[in-house]
Amino acid sequence: MSTPSTIAIDGPAASGKSTLGQMLAHHLGYLYFDTGVLYRALTYVALKGQLDLASGPSLANLAGTTLFTVLPPTVADGRQYTVIADGEDITWMLRSAQVERHVSQVSSHPRVREILQEQQRQIGHAGHVVMAGRDIGVVVMPDADLKIYLDASVEERAQRRTSELRDQGRAVEYAEVLNDLIRRDARDAQNTFRAADAVALSTEGRSPEQLVHDILYLTGMVEKSSG
Ligand code: C5P
Repeated sequence: MSTPSTIAIDGPAASGKSTLGQMLAHHLGYLYFDTGVLYRALTYVALKGQLDLASGPSLANLAGTTLFTVLPPTVADGRQYTVIADGEDITWMLRSAQVERHVSQVSSHPRVREILQEQQRQIGHAGHVVMAGRDIGVVVMPDADLKIYLDASVEERAQRRTSELRDQGRAVEYAEVLNDLIRRDARDAQNTFRAADAVALSTEGRSPEQLVHDILYLTGMVEKSSG
């Protein structure tokens, strides 16, 4: 296989898409784009504006009229990127419990999805991109050169998310994180797809470095797999 220009990584919440996607993009010199950021950004702006989250038309209108920009980090405070909504830096708000609780509802509206998917497609068209989400290999970039579906048990994902949140100084309980993930998995299920031509990888017991190596091996970019 020649070096893929467009790479789609799909999988459930906290499956390690971001870590893997960023490492892979860094290795290849590509752009990493985390599509969950757009759904989270829209959710934050909708909550701030006290919109009815059950109203698809209001949310679609908001999605079509708000300018979301994702930039390399503009502040050295541990962020992976900077997210701006109509001029406001909302980067850290995207990880709040409020946003986390409501994002699946916001992303369930078909028209909202169409608008955000179109924005994602524009980014994908430029190539040299690793894009992560739930529906990238099937809906957003069905022609992606390489598709990966990343999975792990919900317990392992909850473990990972608990450590991440604690590293950020948040006092969270594993059981609570596990329950939130189970709920979010159920709500996201109808919009999460594994493409028939995706390479399925499990993060169970494999480090991000090993997974990057696996992928480079699969695509013929390195000769031998380790570990
Ligand atoms: O990937 P992350 O957990 O940050 O995504 C946040 C939420 O955005 C998901 O729970 C899901 O509801 C939505 N999402 C989506 N389609 C994508 C990416 C994210 O519906 N491609």
